[in-house]
Amino acid sequence: MSTSTLVIALSKGRIYQDTLPLLAHAGIVPQDDPEKSRKLILDTNQPEVKLVVIRATDVPTYVQYGGADVGVAGKDVLMEHGGEGLYEPLDLRIARCRLMVAGRPGANDSNTRLRIATKFVNITRRYYAAQGKQVELIKLYGSMELAPLVGMADAIVDLVDTGNTLKANGLVPLEHIADISSRLIVNKASLKLHSQQIKTLIEQLRQAVAQQGP
Ligand code: AMP
Repeated sequence: MSTSTLVIALSKGRIYQDTLPLLAHAGIVPQDDPEKSRKLILDTNQPEVKLVVIRATDVPTYVQYGGADVGVAGKDVLMEHGGEGLYEPLDLRIARCRLMVAGRPGANDSNTRLRIATKFVNITRRYYAAQGKQVELIKLYGSMELAPLVGMADAIVDLVDTGNTLKANGLVPLEHIADISSRLIVNKASLKLHSQQIKTLIEQLRQAVAQQGP
């Protein structure tokens, strides 16, 4: 790829679908559909802009190490990653939800050390450490809601949108940790190297976000 090429990292699914209209506002339209294509680098209508579509949790890593110049990542993923080496210039206000502690009603009342199942182990450790509480963490990669049901954990830390998943499993939201939405992230060296291209992109995306309303 030429040095003037700008690489944008996105993840499949919700973030990709919600980012497309924002990119279109910036005049960037992918030429392939990542759901159908097996290509890892997608062309766009602009010869100097490429997309890479990768796992959500890998987006900050690609941008941090310069494998991509910019990316779109959920605030949950950024908080868990730590955000080193990244600028976060814009809240895209897409894929919004809340990061919460959840469990059976009253699960967090106990004075004994809580067992928490989550894929967000760094966030959870920090959250309880800030309260001076010791917890036992169980790292899971999905279906966190199951852990309290089978008696493996007292509570979970997970993303909640409508609350339907919790409800369907007899769980309730217990504590709010953070409001989540997707953010534009930029590699620090890229910002110098592609200064004008990236500033223009940020400005166009900022306008697109403003037009999308509250
Ligand atoms: P809900 O039943 O609407 O509360 O959605 C909860 C389920 O969807 C959980 O399994 C979450 O991990 C997932 N979820 C909700 N919102 C998001 C989001 N913005 N990004 C990724 N996963 C989400």
